[in-house]
Amino acid sequence: MTQSEIISQTEQYVLHTYNRFPVALDRGNGMRVWDTEGRSYLDFMSGIGVYALGYHYPGYDEALTAQLQKTLHTSNLYYHEPLAEAARKLVTSAGLDKVFFTNSGAEAIEGAIKAARKYSFAKYGPGRSGIIAMNDSFHGRTVGAVSVTGNEHYQEPFRPLMQGVSFAAYNSISGVRELLSDQTCAVILETLQGEGGIFPAEKACLKELRALCTERDIVLILDEVQCGMGRTGHMWAYEAYGIKPDILCCAKALGCGVPVGAFVLSEKISSSSLAAGDHGSTYGGNPFVTAAVSTVFDLFESGGIVRHVRDTAPYLEEQLDRLKDSYGFITEHRGAGFMRGLELDPSVPAGKVAARALEKGLLIITAGHNVLRFLPPLIAGKDEIDEAAGILAACFDEAAEGNL
Ligand SMILES: *Cc1c(COP(=O)(O)O)cnc(C)c1O
Repeated sequence: MTQSEIISQTEQYVLHTYNRFPVALDRGNGMRVWDTEGRSYLDFMSGIGVYALGYHYPGYDEALTAQLQKTLHTSNLYYHEPLAEAARKLVTSAGLDKVFFTNSGAEAIEGAIKAARKYSFAKYGPGRSGIIAMNDSFHGRTVGAVSVTGNEHYQEPFRPLMQGVSFAAYNSISGVRELLSDQTCAVILETLQGEGGIFPAEKACLKELRALCTERDIVLILDEVQCGMGRTGHMWAYEAYGIKPDILCCAKALGCGVPVGAFVLSEKISSSSLAAGDHGSTYGGNPFVTAAVSTVFDLFESGGIVRHVRDTAPYLEEQLDRLKDSYGFITEHRGAGFMRGLELDPSVPAGKVAARALEKGLLIITAGHNVLRFLPPLIAGKDEIDEAAGILAACFDEAAEGNL
């Protein structure tokens, strides 16, 4: 099929819930992807933070092919080695106790909410079910996940949503304290807000929140679906804060391309929360996806991926700072590691910059209110960063001339 046939057939049959860029991507290699017309692009969005190892990282395809030849699926009524291995590696890396594998980030959030409520129910009985979430958060598109997503646009058409949720300003510990009551069972937040516009949690705030939750026996849920798995230069973003969540949610880069998520629980929660019959998923943690997870942990370790991010991120930071200093319409540069955003003033629409960057061979996306978002594969080196910065500068030059 030609690119235009693919686009028109897709629009004819697929529900239009995404405004897609006008290209049909065909294949990838390393940090580059090609469209069906043979044009290549440097990838600085990695499938929204999924392709952390880039395309065809050595060892990944081999491990998945080997698993494909054994079995894709067994159901959760039987044991299998990939699950045992993926679980050990994920739980150990998070410094927590038990994991449940899901098929997406939203399902990890759903599971975390159920686990928090069950913990509270088991200990305090019914009624203590309130959840405090954050403004400008994003936790996914299922009804439960939308209920804790602090974005009116995502919520309004779907009301009534899950009850008992209230919203505080991100990084406002006093805002959380005002909402706290003896009905509160959980607080949920992203350690570094992604879709909302790349806002990192402030250290003092997150530490105080951790202490507050411990003191009141409230379950602290950290959503690291986007910011986890090495993206910030730590395996888990919370490591930089010297704290641990009671429940960690992850997905996106967890399988580096296969659909898999997870919620991981501390011993305190796992020992008196979801039990046999309380939760399930037909596909969740099947042999294929858990073989991917297990392989991803091995490749992260053998490739020194997290160290590479920590070593290389200052260079990315420097290049983006330089762009910010060169163009008056870039109002802020925020983020950590390989998860960064440039906020633009309203005169330069971020969506137009992203569209122009695509035409020039660079894949980037947007977030929040007019923010350009950068989520390169974690293998990005200085050469790729230079190339991306050059294309961005060309786009910004056009914006400065009013030619976007
Ligand atoms: C993407 C994302 C989700 C939802 O993940 P899906 O796999 O799309 O359901 C949840 N939380 C955060 C922080 C995300 O970035």
